[in-house]
Amino acid sequence: MNPALKLIMKMNKLRFLLGILCIFTLTTEAANRVSFGNISELESGNLKIVFSLDKVALINSYALDDPSRIVIDLKDVTLAEPIKSGSFSPIKLIRASEVGNTARIVIDLKGSVYWKKPWQVKHKDRIDLVLEIKRDKKISTNLRDIIIAIDAGHGGRDPGSVGKNILEKDVTLLIARELERSLKNTYGYKPIMIRSDDRYVGLDDRYQNARKLGADLFVSIHADGFRLSSVKGASVYVWSEEASSITAATLSKYKLTTSPEVKSKIGKLDIRDFDEDSARTLYQIAYEAKIDNSVILAEKILEQLKKDPYTKMHKPNVEFADFRVLKSIDIPSVLIESGFITNPDDAKRLEGKAGRRMIARSIFLGIHDYFKIKPKPNTFMASLPQYVEYEIQKGDVISEIAIRFGVTIDEIINWNNLKNKSIYPGQVIQISI
Ligand SMILES: [Zn+2]
Repeated sequence: MNPALKLIMKMNKLRFLLGILCIFTLTTEAANRVSFGNISELESGNLKIVFSLDKVALINSYALDDPSRIVIDLKDVTLAEPIKSGSFSPIKLIRASEVGNTARIVIDLKGSVYWKKPWQVKHKDRIDLVLEIKRDKKISTNLRDIIIAIDAGHGGRDPGSVGKNILEKDVTLLIARELERSLKNTYGYKPIMIRSDDRYVGLDDRYQNARKLGADLFVSIHADGFRLSSVKGASVYVWSEEASSITAATLSKYKLTTSPEVKSKIGKLDIRDFDEDSARTLYQIAYEAKIDNSVILAEKILEQLKKDPYTKMHKPNVEFADFRVLKSIDIPSVLIESGFITNPDDAKRLEGKAGRRMIARSIFLGIHDYFKIKPKPNTFMASLPQYVEYEIQKGDVISEIAIRFGVTIDEIINWNNLKNKSIYPGQVIQISI
């Protein structure tokens, strides 16, 4: 036999053994059990149901109608004890079973509820799995909000790229806040900010927090720098172990080595967190769907960026790079480079509110376009496919709303039969996007 071939075979054998060892350690060391905690009624009138876990779990939750119920599937989790709780209106019964390596919790309901996607809260000795529901007689199916994780790149001691007058960490936070504003006041969306002020958040904590908070999508916002000031324009990335282009490889390499904190963090995951790297081989199907969906989301955002008259594109197609922050195995994740702050044109655009607003708008419209073709069952967005409902906030002006949603003032006036362009806080308007 050819010695090179022999070596390859040996390597494959070793890899196979390593694989088994990996699965073995995952199933033995990382045992994760779930138990029932308690039910309480909050001031808001919502019912809060709490379960306990040993570590952060991979969760798939969904609602079903006729009969009305919410199902929470917890992967690689076993029942610490039988779960069976009595009724606590509108709950009929909470029950649980083990299906293969999955613990399935079912909450049988007396009618349709507004529900919040379950989220996980880390405590010193445990992880709380929390679900909130509220009986709503006005709705005929169970409904929830879509959760969008907004990740403003860098922050705190990590400034990111440094421009002449601006720092990347400030630009990313301002764009993130603009996106948050649009999502927050649009019915059916709930933004969560991975950081909402100038603080340092490690790369692992960013995607870990998105998982804990039950994010449906993850968007990471950046604004890059390069040694050549002529390099400019925006690009959109999805995760790949092998970077697809030399630019992406250079950028991701650059990103991983810029700050020593980022480097030292690698491989030091809290044992109670969810290990995305090991899960990638175990949940191949979920991971492949995530990559496909990430590409669709990236394409939708890219389409919107191309329509934006302010922004020029650096790369016309979706790029692939091993940006660690995007590596969640089941949450579609994209990274938007809104421009190069080392380029005078891009820096000027990103220093101004108008330029930043256009980036936020493209991301918002791209997210919305994504859910048009990938609707999430039992969400407000899936029940309102023709338009969105926006609640007017104090200080809103109609011209600004038009820009943020990519429509005209006249369209908003016509859709809502507005007289004299008059709007008031609390008013709900419909916008076709
Ligand atoms: Zn960056």
